[in-house]
Amino acid sequence: MSKSGIQDRAWAHEAIRKIEAENNRSADTHLYAVPLPEHWGVDLYLKDESTHRSGSLKHRLARSLFLYGLVNGWITEGTTIVEASSGSTAVSEAYFARLIGLPFIAVMTKTTSPEKIALIEDFGGACLLVDHASEVYAVAEDTARTSGGYYMDQFTFAERATDWRGNNNIAESIFQQLALERHPVPEWIVVGAGTGGTSATIGRYLRYNRHSTRLAVVDPENSAFYPAWLDGDCGSASGLPSRIEGIGRPRAEPSFVPAVIDHMIQVPDAASIAAMRHLAKLAGLHAGPSTGTYLWGVWQLIAGMVAEGRRGSIVSLMCDSGERYAGSYYDAGWLARQGLEPAGYEQMLDNFLDTGTWNG
Ligand SMILES: *Cc1c(COP(=O)(O)O)cnc(C)c1O
Repeated sequence: MSKSGIQDRAWAHEAIRKIEAENNRSADTHLYAVPLPEHWGVDLYLKDESTHRSGSLKHRLARSLFLYGLVNGWITEGTTIVEASSGSTAVSEAYFARLIGLPFIAVMTKTTSPEKIALIEDFGGACLLVDHASEVYAVAEDTARTSGGYYMDQFTFAERATDWRGNNNIAESIFQQLALERHPVPEWIVVGAGTGGTSATIGRYLRYNRHSTRLAVVDPENSAFYPAWLDGDCGSASGLPSRIEGIGRPRAEPSFVPAVIDHMIQVPDAASIAAMRHLAKLAGLHAGPSTGTYLWGVWQLIAGMVAEGRRGSIVSLMCDSGERYAGSYYDAGWLARQGLEPAGYEQMLDNFLDTGTWNG
């Protein structure tokens, strides 16, 4: 090994130690039980991913992507880290970049919430804002090339940077936390897809462990993931930029793995907002809009279980906290300007909780 090679390895060892030590100091995220009418016989659990230090489930992804880049020798001392993001990943990567002393640049659309931009800057990152969601990939690649940096590319690497067998991934954590419940193997796990990484990890884990649990993936209106899953073809599917931050994409990303998904549900954007607000009323939990999308799917699946008299449990995630969206999805004026009208959908949810019948 050359002298510089030895120095590179020493730096990488130290960077990996810092990331592993951060993990070692951190607690697992809670799996909340959300109370439902007793006679339904259905138990709902939400895993609160907002409590990670960088505020969302992207804390797990960022940790995995940094470790993957380090063990591959792609990230070395002084490497500028560049990422294309709708915001949450950039917040988490800015956190880890600072932890190991690297500069970080996030490429995002101008519509990214100001709260997320502030968080990235608080963690020492820089933001490059573009007009259209479709531009982020090329601009990130370009920025990495011209700065001699490294394009993290979450939309390609999310599905392979996380170990699907276990190693404390989100799926293993869910099953461990359910161990003492009356239905420890859930009927359904419900998630969305931004990179598709979480659904790929959970779907592979379920198959590897030969669980009967089915994986349902929710997708915002106009996203490319749903048509890609229907056709089993990610190459040709296209959609529009998502109005639900964190999930739904104009193209079916390479890290989206349709074959491990048992069921998909398309969710109107206003229904996502309604379910987000409904959760606050029902359980006092203030989550972001993607959690609303997840719950719109969850309530439909629970309605199916109640209609069939099938008992069991169902698990979903709280992806991030509502604090990041005080000036947007939680603001009535902002919603009106976006043409989003959740009231009718909220009425549907109230009716469902009262009667156990879904009038969709
Ligand atoms: C990324 C993200 C998701 C989806 O997770 P993936 O593993 O990328 O599919 C959901 N909600 C929020 C807020 C996100 O940032």
